Amino acid sequence: MAGEAQADCVFCRIVAGEIPATVVRKSERTLTFRDINPQAPTHLLVIPRVHYPNAAELAAAEPEIAAELLVEAGEAARGEGLAAYRLIFNTGADAGQTVFHAHVHVLGGEPLTEGLV
Ligand code: AMP
Ligand code: ZN
Repeated sequence: MAGEAQADCVFCRIVAGEIPATVVRKSERTLTFRDINPQAPTHLLVIPRVHYPNAAELAAAEPEIAAELLVEAGEAARGEGLAAYRLIFNTGADAGQTVFHAHVHVLGGEPLTEGLV
């Protein structure tokens, strides 16, 4: 069923407490933790507790949780003292997605002046 935990999904296993993570925020429907391979001085991931393969599918099925993901991303950035930050949703392997459980990257802590857009 849509949204159900997947036994082979690393982020479902973090939600279940089966894999450790450095959790910085929790909400009823989301979890925020530090990326294991940071690409910036601050690099967080905000994920829904439910499993959807990417953010667009999450938003289509559960728009309130998708909105909560963004609220939590902003709160997490504020908690890290970031005045500026970048949110990234990689969608599809060719775009660099490696974990197929919806997540948003929160990157900050250095000038983020380069980018694709
Ligand atoms: P993406 O490439 O957008 O799918 O992002 C997946 C991110 O998850 C990568 O930046 C990984 O470094 C990160 N990641 C993978 N496994 C873990 C883990 N066990 N704990 C924290 N971050 C992880
Ligand atoms: Zn999952």
